[in-house]
Amino acid sequence: MAHCPYCLSKISEREFVCPACGAEKGYVYFNRKSRGLAFMLMVGFLLPLAILLAVPLYLQGTGTLFWMSASIALGIGAFTVYRLIVGPIWYR
Ligand SMILES: [Zn+2]
Repeated sequence: MAHCPYCLSKISEREFVCPACGAEKGYVYFNRKSRGLAFMLMVGFLLPLAILLAVPLYLQGTGTLFWMSASIALGIGAFTVYRLIVGPIWYR
């Protein structure tokens, strides 16, 4: 048995929404909703990849803007890896 970190009700490990207070378990909180593994993988890896592929084409080269967007892409990727290691957490 696990406990909801917000209201301390007992909840099953497989439960993704707390029945007592409505807290949600997920990988990332986006647009007022907790998101699952599929969303995390899509946004966390495909978005950085899209940035890395699209920005050089758009800019026709690798200037400062490329390195800035590459850092953002790597930041998103690193955050995703970190969130996957930590696993789902509760949001409310
Ligand atoms: Zn709760």
